[in-house]
Amino acid sequence: MADWQITYRCNENCISCIIPEEVYGREVPEKITELFLHQNEDDVISIGGGEPTLHDDILDILQKAREENPGATIFLVTNGRMFAYEEFVQELSELELGDFRLGISLYGHEAEVHEKVTRVEGSFRDTVQGIKNLTAEGFEVEVRVVVHRLNHEHLPEIYSFVDEELPGISRLVFMNAKYSGRAYDNREELLVEYPEVVPYMEEALSLTEEENFPVRLFHFPLCTLDEEFRDYAATGNTKDSGAEEIGYASVCEECGRWEECSGIWQSYLNLVGEDEFEPIQDGES
Ligand code: SF4
Repeated sequence: MADWQITYRCNENCISCIIPEEVYGREVPEKITELFLHQNEDDVISIGGGEPTLHDDILDILQKAREENPGATIFLVTNGRMFAYEEFVQELSELELGDFRLGISLYGHEAEVHEKVTRVEGSFRDTVQGIKNLTAEGFEVEVRVVVHRLNHEHLPEIYSFVDEELPGISRLVFMNAKYSGRAYDNREELLVEYPEVVPYMEEALSLTEEENFPVRLFHFPLCTLDEEFRDYAATGNTKDSGAEEIGYASVCEECGRWEECSGIWQSYLNLVGEDEFEPIQDGES
Protein backbone atom coordinates (compact mmCIF):
# COMPACT_ATOMS: atom_id res chain seq x y z
CA MET A 1 0.00 0.00 0.00
CA ALA A 2 1.27 3.47 -0.88
CA ASP A 3 0.67 6.12 1.78
CA TRP A 4 0.71 9.69 0.42
CA GLN A 5 0.54 12.60 2.85
CA ILE A 6 -0.24 15.58 0.63
CA THR A 7 -0.46 18.32 3.27
CA TYR A 8 0.16 18.75 6.99
CA ARG A 9 -2.43 21.50 7.25
CA CYS A 10 -5.60 20.56 9.11
CA ASN A 11 -8.94 22.07 10.13
CA GLU A 12 -8.81 20.06 13.36
CA ASN A 13 -6.30 20.03 16.18
CA CYS A 14 -6.52 16.43 17.35
CA ILE A 15 -4.90 15.52 20.62
CA SER A 16 -4.26 12.04 19.20
CA CYS A 17 -2.72 13.10 15.85
CA ILE A 18 0.28 10.99 14.87
CA ILE A 19 1.86 13.79 12.82
CA PRO A 20 4.86 15.30 14.66
CA GLU A 21 4.18 18.74 16.15
CA GLU A 22 7.03 20.32 14.17
CA VAL A 23 5.43 19.62 10.76
CA TYR A 24 1.79 20.27 11.74
CA GLY A 25 0.34 23.09 9.60
CA ARG A 26 3.01 22.90 6.87
CA GLU A 27 2.54 22.22 3.19
CA VAL A 28 4.19 19.24 1.52
CA PRO A 29 6.34 20.55 -1.36
CA GLU A 30 4.56 20.28 -4.71
CA LYS A 31 7.44 18.28 -6.20
CA ILE A 32 6.92 15.53 -3.63
CA THR A 33 3.19 15.35 -4.39
CA GLU A 34 4.09 15.10 -8.10
CA LEU A 35 6.46 12.23 -7.31
CA PHE A 36 3.68 10.44 -5.39
CA LEU A 37 1.50 10.51 -8.46
CA HIS A 38 3.95 8.41 -10.44
CA GLN A 39 4.35 5.63 -7.88
CA ASN A 40 2.20 3.11 -9.62
CA GLU A 41 3.08 -0.34 -8.37
CA ASP A 42 0.77 -0.49 -5.39
CA ASP A 43 -2.71 -1.93 -5.45
CA VAL A 44 -4.00 0.49 -2.75
CA ILE A 45 -3.11 4.19 -2.72
CA SER A 46 -3.97 5.94 0.52
CA ILE A 47 -4.11 9.75 0.27
CA GLY A 48 -4.09 11.58 3.60
CA GLY A 49 -2.42 14.33 5.56
CA GLY A 50 -3.00 16.45 7.68
CA GLU A 51 -6.41 16.94 6.14
CA PRO A 52 -6.10 16.20 2.41
CA THR A 53 -9.32 18.00 1.44
CA LEU A 54 -7.63 21.29 2.44
CA HIS A 55 -5.09 20.89 -0.38
CA ASP A 56 -5.99 23.46 -3.06
CA ASP A 57 -5.63 20.81 -5.78
CA ILE A 58 -7.24 17.86 -4.04
CA LEU A 59 -9.69 17.09 -6.85
CA ASP A 60 -6.92 17.25 -9.49
CA ILE A 61 -4.70 15.04 -7.33
CA LEU A 62 -7.45 12.42 -7.05
CA GLN A 63 -8.07 12.55 -10.79
CA LYS A 64 -4.36 12.24 -11.61
CA ALA A 65 -3.89 9.45 -9.07
CA ARG A 66 -6.63 7.55 -10.89
CA GLU A 67 -5.19 8.22 -14.35
CA GLU A 68 -1.65 7.22 -13.35
CA ASN A 69 -2.74 4.14 -11.39
CA PRO A 70 -5.69 2.66 -13.27
CA GLY A 71 -5.71 -0.67 -11.41
CA ALA A 72 -5.39 0.68 -7.85
CA THR A 73 -7.96 1.26 -5.14
CA ILE A 74 -7.79 4.92 -4.11
CA PHE A 75 -8.49 5.50 -0.43
CA LEU A 76 -8.95 9.04 0.92
CA VAL A 77 -8.25 9.37 4.66
CA THR A 78 -10.10 12.46 5.89
CA ASN A 79 -12.00 13.96 8.80
CA GLY A 80 -14.92 14.42 6.38
CA ARG A 81 -15.74 17.99 7.40
CA MET A 82 -15.41 19.45 3.89
CA PHE A 83 -18.06 17.00 2.68
CA ALA A 84 -20.61 18.78 4.87
CA TYR A 85 -20.69 21.15 1.86
CA GLU A 86 -22.98 19.45 -0.67
CA GLU A 87 -21.30 21.29 -3.57
CA PHE A 88 -17.98 19.66 -2.67
CA VAL A 89 -19.61 16.21 -2.70
CA GLN A 90 -21.08 17.07 -6.12
CA GLU A 91 -17.65 18.06 -7.44
CA LEU A 92 -16.22 14.76 -6.19
CA SER A 93 -19.09 12.89 -7.86
CA GLU A 94 -18.20 14.43 -11.19
CA LEU A 95 -14.72 12.83 -11.18
CA GLU A 96 -14.58 9.35 -12.60
CA LEU A 97 -12.63 7.66 -9.83
CA GLY A 98 -13.76 4.06 -10.21
CA ASP A 99 -12.59 2.00 -7.21
CA PHE A 100 -12.55 4.84 -4.69
CA ARG A 101 -13.27 4.76 -0.94
CA LEU A 102 -13.08 7.16 1.98
CA GLY A 103 -11.94 6.50 5.55
CA ILE A 104 -13.45 9.08 7.92
CA SER A 105 -12.39 9.55 11.55
CA LEU A 106 -15.08 9.73 14.21
CA TYR A 107 -14.07 9.84 17.88
CA GLY A 108 -17.37 9.87 19.69
CA HIS A 109 -21.14 9.48 19.59
CA GLU A 110 -21.76 13.11 20.55
CA ALA A 111 -20.02 16.44 20.19
CA GLU A 112 -18.70 16.46 23.75
CA VAL A 113 -16.69 13.26 23.29
CA HIS A 114 -15.62 13.82 19.65
CA GLU A 115 -14.57 17.43 20.18
CA LYS A 116 -12.53 16.66 23.28
CA VAL A 117 -10.26 14.92 20.74
CA THR A 118 -10.49 17.30 17.74
CA ARG A 119 -10.53 20.44 19.93
CA VAL A 120 -12.66 22.21 17.31
CA GLU A 121 -16.22 23.25 18.06
CA GLY A 122 -18.66 22.17 15.35
CA SER A 123 -16.39 19.40 14.05
CA PHE A 124 -18.75 16.60 15.17
CA ARG A 125 -21.70 18.17 13.34
CA ASP A 126 -19.62 18.65 10.16
CA THR A 127 -18.15 15.14 10.15
CA VAL A 128 -21.52 13.46 10.68
CA GLN A 129 -23.12 15.62 7.96
CA GLY A 130 -20.18 14.88 5.64
CA ILE A 131 -20.64 11.14 6.09
CA LYS A 132 -24.39 11.45 5.44
CA ASN A 133 -23.85 13.54 2.29
CA LEU A 134 -21.29 11.08 0.92
CA THR A 135 -23.31 7.93 1.57
CA ALA A 136 -26.41 9.62 0.08
CA GLU A 137 -24.40 10.04 -3.14
CA GLY A 138 -23.40 6.37 -3.08
CA PHE A 139 -19.77 6.74 -1.97
CA GLU A 140 -18.14 3.91 -0.02
CA VAL A 141 -17.36 5.29 3.43
CA GLU A 142 -15.49 3.49 6.19
CA VAL A 143 -15.94 5.10 9.62
CA ARG A 144 -12.74 4.84 11.69
CA VAL A 145 -12.77 5.21 15.47
CA VAL A 146 -9.31 5.60 17.01
CA VAL A 147 -9.60 4.23 20.55
CA HIS A 148 -7.82 5.77 23.56
CA ARG A 149 -8.54 6.93 27.11
CA LEU A 150 -10.78 9.82 26.02
CA ASN A 151 -13.35 7.60 24.31
CA HIS A 152 -12.83 3.96 25.32
CA GLU A 153 -15.69 3.94 27.83
CA HIS A 154 -18.08 5.13 25.10
CA LEU A 155 -17.46 2.35 22.56
CA PRO A 156 -20.93 0.77 22.94
CA GLU A 157 -22.58 4.20 22.52
CA ILE A 158 -20.40 4.95 19.50
CA TYR A 159 -21.40 1.65 17.93
CA SER A 160 -25.11 2.37 18.57
CA PHE A 161 -24.82 5.90 17.19
CA VAL A 162 -23.20 4.71 13.95
CA ASP A 163 -25.70 1.87 13.59
CA GLU A 164 -28.68 4.18 14.03
CA GLU A 165 -27.49 7.39 12.37
CA LEU A 166 -25.05 6.26 9.67
CA PRO A 167 -26.40 2.96 8.31
CA GLY A 168 -25.20 3.74 4.76
CA ILE A 169 -21.51 3.28 5.59
CA SER A 170 -19.62 0.28 4.20
CA ARG A 171 -17.66 -0.62 7.33
CA LEU A 172 -17.00 0.46 10.93
CA VAL A 173 -13.42 0.07 12.16
CA PHE A 174 -12.20 0.43 15.74
CA MET A 175 -8.42 1.04 15.76
CA ASN A 176 -6.26 1.03 18.85
CA ALA A 177 -4.28 4.28 19.04
CA LYS A 178 -0.70 4.53 17.87
CA TYR A 179 1.44 6.60 20.23
CA SER A 180 3.63 8.63 17.89
CA GLY A 181 3.84 12.33 17.00
CA ARG A 182 1.46 14.44 19.06
CA ALA A 183 -0.23 11.30 20.44
CA TYR A 184 3.08 10.39 22.05
CA ASP A 185 3.45 13.90 23.47
CA ASN A 186 -0.05 13.56 24.97
CA ARG A 187 0.38 9.97 26.14
CA GLU A 188 -0.44 10.75 29.78
CA GLU A 189 -3.96 11.78 28.74
CA LEU A 190 -4.44 9.19 26.02
CA LEU A 191 -2.76 5.95 26.98
CA VAL A 192 -5.11 3.17 27.98
CA GLU A 193 -4.19 -0.49 28.24
CA TYR A 194 -5.97 -3.37 26.54
CA PRO A 195 -7.41 -4.84 29.77
CA GLU A 196 -9.22 -1.54 30.37
CA VAL A 197 -10.48 -1.16 26.78
CA VAL A 198 -11.53 -4.70 25.95
CA PRO A 199 -14.61 -4.95 28.24
CA TYR A 200 -16.11 -1.89 26.48
CA MET A 201 -15.00 -3.19 23.08
CA GLU A 202 -16.64 -6.55 23.71
CA GLU A 203 -19.82 -4.85 24.96
CA ALA A 204 -19.94 -2.89 21.69
CA LEU A 205 -19.35 -6.05 19.64
CA SER A 206 -22.16 -7.80 21.49
CA LEU A 207 -24.54 -5.24 19.94
CA THR A 208 -23.59 -6.10 16.35
CA GLU A 209 -25.87 -9.03 15.55
CA GLU A 210 -28.12 -7.20 13.13
CA GLU A 211 -25.76 -4.50 11.90
CA ASN A 212 -26.05 -3.02 8.42
CA PHE A 213 -22.30 -3.06 7.89
CA PRO A 214 -19.27 -5.15 8.89
CA VAL A 215 -17.31 -4.21 12.02
CA ARG A 216 -13.54 -4.77 12.18
CA LEU A 217 -10.89 -4.24 14.85
CA PHE A 218 -7.42 -3.02 13.84
CA HIS A 219 -4.47 -3.35 16.23
CA PHE A 220 -6.31 -5.54 18.70
CA PRO A 221 -4.07 -8.65 18.96
CA LEU A 222 -6.13 -11.84 19.15
CA CYS A 223 -4.93 -12.73 22.65
CA THR A 224 -6.38 -9.49 24.04
CA LEU A 225 -9.92 -10.60 23.07
CA ASP A 226 -12.17 -13.33 24.33
CA GLU A 227 -12.37 -16.27 21.91
CA GLU A 228 -15.89 -15.40 20.76
CA PHE A 229 -14.81 -11.96 19.54
CA ARG A 230 -11.56 -12.86 17.75
CA ASP A 231 -13.16 -13.09 14.30
CA TYR A 232 -13.67 -9.33 14.38
CA ALA A 233 -9.93 -8.69 14.60
CA ALA A 234 -7.95 -8.02 11.46
CA THR A 235 -5.21 -10.58 10.97
CA GLY A 236 -2.37 -10.66 8.48
CA ASN A 237 1.22 -11.61 8.87
CA THR A 238 3.41 -8.49 9.00
CA LYS A 239 6.56 -10.24 10.18
CA ASP A 240 8.30 -9.99 6.84
CA SER A 241 7.07 -6.49 5.95
CA GLY A 242 9.96 -4.78 7.76
CA ALA A 243 7.48 -2.34 9.34
CA GLU A 244 9.34 -0.98 12.35
CA GLU A 245 6.14 0.38 13.83
CA ILE A 246 4.81 -3.14 14.49
CA GLY A 247 6.30 -5.37 17.19
CA TYR A 248 5.72 -8.63 19.05
CA ALA A 249 6.15 -9.79 22.64
CA SER A 250 8.83 -12.36 23.40
CA VAL A 251 6.10 -14.95 24.18
CA CYS A 252 4.56 -14.53 20.72
CA GLU A 253 6.65 -17.26 19.12
CA GLU A 254 4.96 -19.78 21.41
CA CYS A 255 1.51 -18.65 20.26
CA GLY A 256 -0.75 -20.92 18.20
CA ARG A 257 -1.91 -17.85 16.16
CA TRP A 258 1.60 -16.41 15.64
CA GLU A 259 1.60 -16.99 11.89
CA GLU A 260 -1.50 -14.88 11.33
CA CYS A 261 -1.18 -12.31 14.15
CA SER A 262 -0.73 -8.80 12.78
CA GLY A 263 1.22 -7.74 15.86
CA ILE A 264 1.20 -4.88 18.34
CA TRP A 265 2.05 -1.21 17.85
CA GLN A 266 5.71 -0.94 18.81
CA SER A 267 4.90 2.42 20.41
CA TYR A 268 2.43 0.61 22.74
CA LEU A 269 5.00 -2.04 23.65
CA ASN A 270 7.55 0.69 24.41
CA LEU A 271 5.15 2.41 26.82
CA VAL A 272 3.34 -0.53 28.42
CA GLY A 273 5.64 -3.54 28.07
CA GLU A 274 4.82 -7.14 27.18
CA ASP A 275 3.08 -8.54 30.25
CA GLU A 276 -0.48 -8.46 28.92
CA PHE A 277 0.16 -10.72 25.91
CA GLU A 278 -0.42 -14.43 26.43
CA PRO A 279 0.17 -17.10 23.82
CA ILE A 280 -2.97 -18.73 22.50
CA GLN A 281 -2.76 -22.50 22.76
CA ASP A 282 -3.20 -24.68 19.66
CA GLY A 283 -6.78 -25.86 19.63
CA GLU A 284 -8.18 -22.51 20.81
CA SER A 285 -9.74 -20.51 18.01
S1 SF4 B 1 0.51 -13.82 21.96
FE1 SF4 B 1 1.48 -12.55 20.41
S2 SF4 B 1 1.18 -13.67 18.48
FE2 SF4 B 1 -0.31 -14.46 19.96
S3 SF4 B 1 -2.17 -13.25 19.62
FE3 SF4 B 1 -1.00 -12.29 21.29
S4 SF4 B 1 0.21 -10.70 20.29
FE4 SF4 B 1 -0.46 -12.13 18.68
